[in-house]
Amino acid sequence: MRPAGHATDYHVHTARCGHAGGTMRDYVEAALARGLSEIAFTDHAPLFFLPGDDPDPGLAMTRAELPGYVEEVRALGEEYRGRIDVLLGLEADYAEGHEETLRELLASHEWDVVLGSVHWVAGGWIDAPGADRRHQEEGTVFLWWEYFRLLSRACATGFFDVMTHFDLPKKFGHRMPGSLSAAEARAVEAARVSGVAVEVSSAGLRKTVAEEYPAPSLLRQLVGAGVPVVLSSDAHAPAEVAWGRREVLAAARAAGASEHLSFRRRERRRHPL
Ligand SMILES: [Zn+2]
Ligand SMILES: [Zn+2]
Repeated sequence: MRPAGHATDYHVHTARCGHAGGTMRDYVEAALARGLSEIAFTDHAPLFFLPGDDPDPGLAMTRAELPGYVEEVRALGEEYRGRIDVLLGLEADYAEGHEETLRELLASHEWDVVLGSVHWVAGGWIDAPGADRRHQEEGTVFLWWEYFRLLSRACATGFFDVMTHFDLPKKFGHRMPGSLSAAEARAVEAARVSGVAVEVSSAGLRKTVAEEYPAPSLLRQLVGAGVPVVLSSDAHAPAEVAWGRREVLAAARAAGASEHLSFRRRERRRHPL
């Protein structure tokens, strides 16, 4: 049954990133079965800021894989036209000092939507398997502080349509220390000023922290500042498409949002929630 309104999932991976399963067709079929009107593929962009063609095979597609990814999304879009809209997106890392390389990468194709993510913090991944150790070794306060600094910079680049998992360092259960509320507020302000949207994602509900991204109080701040929202699952398997959709909708509404966005060739459209 098709859910009421305009149902979307704006954060979906593919096997090319090395840590997702299923074929792309399986993801589209799952989206259709769940009554979505749109699915945006947003696989991990090649790791443009690390050396070599495939610096971390388990985390992102290679540079060589990018054209095939674009082709396959567009082909599925043609094939499913009239039944569901299949959009071409990308989840790109923000990496300080590598802005020009990212600009070139983004200019190489006509994206429908570009997600901006800060996964690389202080010289390492903040969310990869084993990264929870960093909280003991480097300190939770330091990691959160540096994360918000980078996230604020990422917002200001103007490269991204949507910022993902806005409070990602909580993934393994290390909540934001209360002393960092000013840094958090600066990130909210950076999002507001840049005009970027934020995703409300069910992915956190599947992680140790067991809470959607962003946390309710943070999402309230973002919505209160006028930052628009996008709904997403961050699916890494076909079964995760639209996963937790009810919870994500409830979280967005509870934060005061009355609309969500969709994108075509990076132009935004608004839909009632
Ligand atoms: Zn991500
Ligand atoms: Zn993702």
